[in-house]
Amino acid sequence: MSEKKFSFQEEVRRRRTFAIISHPDAGKTTLTEKLLLYGGAIRLAGSVKSRRSQNHAVSDWMEIEKQRGISVTSSVLQFEYDDYCINILDTPGHQDFSEDTYRTLMAADSAVMVIDSAKGIESQTKKLFHVCKMRGIPIFTFINKLDRDGKDPFELVEELEKILGIRSYPMNWPIGSGRNFKGVYDRQKQQVEVFGGGNHGQSLAQAVKGNVEDDSFKELLGDELQEKLIEDIELLDIAGFEFDLEQVSQGNLTPVYFGSALTNFGVEPFLEGFLNFTSPPSSRNSNQGHINPESENFTGFIFKIQANMNPTHRDRIAFLRICSGKFEKGMQVNHVQENKKVRLAQPQQFLAQDRVIVDTAYPGDIIGIHDPGIFRIGDTLCEDNSKIQYEGIPLFAPEHFSKVYTKNALKRKQFVKGITQLAEEGSIQVYKRPNIGVEELIVGVVGVLQFDVLEYRLKNEYGVDLIMERTPYRYIRWIKGDQFDPDCFNLTMDTMIVEDVDENPVLLFANEWSIATVQDRNKDIELAEISYRK
Ligand code: GDP
Repeated sequence: MSEKKFSFQEEVRRRRTFAIISHPDAGKTTLTEKLLLYGGAIRLAGSVKSRRSQNHAVSDWMEIEKQRGISVTSSVLQFEYDDYCINILDTPGHQDFSEDTYRTLMAADSAVMVIDSAKGIESQTKKLFHVCKMRGIPIFTFINKLDRDGKDPFELVEELEKILGIRSYPMNWPIGSGRNFKGVYDRQKQQVEVFGGGNHGQSLAQAVKGNVEDDSFKELLGDELQEKLIEDIELLDIAGFEFDLEQVSQGNLTPVYFGSALTNFGVEPFLEGFLNFTSPPSSRNSNQGHINPESENFTGFIFKIQANMNPTHRDRIAFLRICSGKFEKGMQVNHVQENKKVRLAQPQQFLAQDRVIVDTAYPGDIIGIHDPGIFRIGDTLCEDNSKIQYEGIPLFAPEHFSKVYTKNALKRKQFVKGITQLAEEGSIQVYKRPNIGVEELIVGVVGVLQFDVLEYRLKNEYGVDLIMERTPYRYIRWIKGDQFDPDCFNLTMDTMIVEDVDENPVLLFANEWSIATVQDRNKDIELAEISYRK
């Protein structure tokens, strides 16, 4: 950590908290690792992955990730670069976990989207991008793997607009590609950066910088590359969008950087540009208007809950995003939703790959607090008695529903405990049928892989073998208002009434036709697609 002393205000302003999204294999892990390398948080590139495999802090159910080669969990890392203090939130790459991604994005102030230059925009880039877009935060693009032959850079930039519908501004432009990837041209500084060194990505890349027209660059690049670059730059200036920071901060224009996380080429220009153009924690909306991060009253909200991260301790951690004020270990705060006081005794922070106890933390930081089962996603913690509550985190509508039972009736207690735990983490939603006890529950998920995680975690963490029976239901609607009387309600044959965990009445439908019919037959009832936790 930095030896320098910063004032409270400086601490807030030097923070950058962002999430990285990408289609699996685009290079998110490699880029994260290289950012840590540049921040001096790890010495040799390669350590994130190698330590990950033996890491005690990683939960055993991540086996499922290894088996399937996907990342299910999201983690958070903090490191310093220059005078910046950076928090990176990793997100699961698979779209089946996009709800988790959304929650993580709630805690981020901006997002970085990593794209494989050979593949362009992939299916999950698209899904995750839309989740980002819902949040309205700035999105920066890193086009990766330029050390391999990929698509034409103009084509890649066009895909951003055509497929994702976002305007883009290339901050730099690649010089050559594949084996011939020599460097980038920085459009704002109007300078060429030709890379050297890099030692196959084990150490920092060096760059020679200067004017593109210089003879020395002609020598370094060769006539052909230099001429092509000059042409490309002209074309970009004529045909491209203007750079507009306001549009970037609203998420309407994405700054684009080119590079290769593997060889480190372009990582530093990206990091510097990103840190420069992305913003520190800004005001957040609450039931009492916008809360300034520099206000002295400590506030924050829980965006993620995760149990059994450490299998030997079976602990449950609530992830808190600090929104204002200074956090100090052991401080007593109000748990607004529960109207209770809690002491934050063993707060943890995630530095590079280590978990440490944190003494102080600032807006933008994420801390993990021990959760004896009192927190729910979306809860606000607040130091004074102002009862500030941040905007709730919506429940996504599940699209797959299964009936679940335990194979062994003697394990019913563990079954209910495990299911409740996973529901509290937000990875599944649980419904009960009125008049039927907990022997049979209905579980709804946004993506089917979440069923696999449920089955795996119940077996491994709770010793419960599940029986799952898929149902034909594909749509859910929450019934709003108090006028609901199940006896007078006119349903179709293929619609089922269930209750969610807050005992709200919920309808499950097999198709859109049934939704329309039920709505038609019960005109005074409002059916909502999204619900907020109480
Ligand atoms: P993630 O699934 O998005 O986290 O992707 P990873 O960072 O695990 O990378 C997937 C694969 O692509 C790995 O084999 C990496 O070594 C490789 N990779 C990542 N970045 C680059 C790059 O810049 N160039 C090349 N050639 N390969 C890369």
